[in-house]
Amino acid sequence: MTTTAKSPDLLAFDATVMHAFIARIFETAGWPKNDCTILSDHLITADQSGHASHGIGMTPMYVEAFEAGTVLPGNAPVTKVESGPFLTIDARLCLGQPIAFRTTERGIAIARREGVALVNLLNAFHIGRIGHYGEMVAAASLIGLFWVNVHGRPPLVAPYLGREPRFGTNPHCVAIPRPGAQPFLLDFATSEIAMGKARVAYAQGKSVRKGAVIDHRGRETDRPAVMFEDPRGALSPMGAHKGYGLSLVCELLSSVLGGASTISEDCDHGTVHNNMLMILIDPARLGNGSADFRDAVERHLEWARSCPPAEGEAEVLLPGDPEFRARQRFGGTTVIEPFTWNEICAAAKRIGVPETAIPQPK
Ligand code: NAD
Repeated sequence: MTTTAKSPDLLAFDATVMHAFIARIFETAGWPKNDCTILSDHLITADQSGHASHGIGMTPMYVEAFEAGTVLPGNAPVTKVESGPFLTIDARLCLGQPIAFRTTERGIAIARREGVALVNLLNAFHIGRIGHYGEMVAAASLIGLFWVNVHGRPPLVAPYLGREPRFGTNPHCVAIPRPGAQPFLLDFATSEIAMGKARVAYAQGKSVRKGAVIDHRGRETDRPAVMFEDPRGALSPMGAHKGYGLSLVCELLSSVLGGASTISEDCDHGTVHNNMLMILIDPARLGNGSADFRDAVERHLEWARSCPPAEGEAEVLLPGDPEFRARQRFGGTTVIEPFTWNEICAAAKRIGVPETAIPQPK
């Protein structure tokens, strides 16, 4: 979902002030300051990248999981495998963004040493926007490939030609460094639309694009109600059989390889857990040399970008362009819609953050 700093129906806040407020909620709940800073950085960056679905609006869900005892400050990860290029960490349901951030840092160190790293993060609480980790990897001049599954709540996405949900929105990400420029950053869910988009359309009495969801008989429909009213349907996989296949790859590589859970009917803990496999590659260690690699990447991206735009369109973009442009538009501002802001404030108060600490819109 793309948002802008100028939408009249959104509340605008100073991003630094909001960052401190979100961090304070989790500090009050008992998490160490560093973890709260990493989490807040992640959520604000997601909002400012145009992905409000993974921004500060996640806070109420995280607080509810804390209140339910699912994700607690005392949950501590363990390293299961650490050998040569291999690293496997069982997060044991600790807060997702900090453990994914630190796991990515460790993966980067391994890839610098070994040339490649194969890193498996298992049983993390929701880790958010996968592109965040892709950007860390690209900033270290490495290539990153990511496959992630979603479990901990019932499936939402049907297999191609199916009529019942069998997967979460399993995201996939590829990040490629471009020195002196923003990285190539492909980062998406493998469902045709995000569940959040179906929820917003349903709440507003609007339809979704026909085929983005299916009804209980597996027929394409534009009615988001199939996700919220019986008889239930499902989200469609993106790109028909291709997205379905990619979703299966996310499930198998992120979880089965490391011995963690795949999604199933009985995995409903009412919240979102992630398993992630990342493969990091140092292009400087391959025969071509890093300068040749860089030049070839730039030549090819320019070739793609030079395509004349379709009638009525302004330009051809590269993966990553929408996110980096959104950040430029937002500058030092972050926005949120009033309903979600009220939920965040209510969650903060339940945790014990004083009313006086709640920031005011600009
Ligand atoms: P999306 O449909 O907005 O697609 C985003 C990707 O498409 C980006 O790489 C973007 O740069 C690229 N893109 C967009 N327009 C483009 C254009 N015109 N030309 C070229 N490239 C373009 O994303 P989504 O599927 O809604 O996913 C949003 C976020 O949700 C992602 O960051 C994903 O990691 C995250 N997610 C997380 C989970 C989880 O469980 N942790 C689950 C699902 C999704």
